[in-house]
Amino acid sequence: MPRPTVARVDLDALRHNYREASRLAGHARAMAVVKADGYGHGIAAVAKALAGEVERFAVACLEEALAIREAGLGQTVVLLQGVHAVEDVATCVRLGLEPVIHCERQLDWLAAGNEVPAFWIKVNSGMNRLGFRAAELPAVMASVRALTDAGRGAFLGFVTHFAAADDPDRKTTESQTRYFQDAVAPWPEALLSVGNSAAHFRVDQPLFDWSRPGIMLYGASPMAERCGAELGLKPVMTLESELTAVRWLNPGDTVGYGETWRAEQPTRMGIVAVGYGDGYPRHAGTGTPAAINGQRVRLIGRVSMDMLAVDLTGAPNASPGDRVELWGAEVPVDEVARHAGTIGYELLTGVTARVPRIYS
Ligand code: PLP
Repeated sequence: MPRPTVARVDLDALRHNYREASRLAGHARAMAVVKADGYGHGIAAVAKALAGEVERFAVACLEEALAIREAGLGQTVVLLQGVHAVEDVATCVRLGLEPVIHCERQLDWLAAGNEVPAFWIKVNSGMNRLGFRAAELPAVMASVRALTDAGRGAFLGFVTHFAAADDPDRKTTESQTRYFQDAVAPWPEALLSVGNSAAHFRVDQPLFDWSRPGIMLYGASPMAERCGAELGLKPVMTLESELTAVRWLNPGDTVGYGETWRAEQPTRMGIVAVGYGDGYPRHAGTGTPAAINGQRVRLIGRVSMDMLAVDLTGAPNASPGDRVELWGAEVPVDEVARHAGTIGYELLTGVTARVPRIYS
């Protein structure tokens, strides 16, 4: 028998969430961000499931773009961090990838490559990770012009990324938007791409030509204060396992490493076959919810590598072999993330390779 710990992936929910992103994007079209193995869901399966409706995918690196091509898909793929060597330029042309160029070094590689692909230019509007500042753009665009005049590539447009679109205070996003618009104003023919998931939920936030939703496609929330379901999203991944043992603890008994939890009264406890070796967060300590037979239970003690313990008081009829939902429709991944002091992104992308993904 295979281990009962699996990640079920609901591809209809994924498509629902993509349609929701497209609807919220308004006049903009939504490129589906499928980096980090489709946020842990399996990039090939995710891209195939969306292929009927998505024109552009966005990934972080060449390997991820390759996975989309190996899945037999021909959509345009945007490389959000551009190329990492001059040889990558030819790969972009061969595979139909659009690198986002964020620095001089990458521009030099474009100029030095034998071929030039269609590409985007990244503007640093305040995230201050990658991209050109407004004052640098005239020189950058002179280089771009030289490339395109030589018939060796197609400049598509400008990309920028928001630092705080999830913040209820919109000041940063508004000022980044203004900065971006001013910076690119001299090139009115260029396409513009802004907007991670959080920006889709901010009314009045212009998303220009192409938005870039990621986490919302997977049904998790980009905002700390709300769960995905409250935003009209459907959870895509259900992380589930089984109760493998049930025992009574006496008052004074402790559970697991470090004796961090001690029974104050007779307590029926269950062991679930999932742990941080599966990507379940070790920082999700006592009190984190799980669900058994539709009833909520709470974790007790520390999460181990291959198992964790739950107090079965909330599910008195639970017995070995019963299914346990660690996150999914009954326990939002956002809620587990809050208990673990992190965000849904980290939990979803952190599910390890030993957990089979099962698609429906
Ligand atoms: N655009 C860029 C440049 C990104 O790096 C990311 C993800 O980190 C996204 C879009 C998607 O962001 P989110 O998952 O918050 O929607």
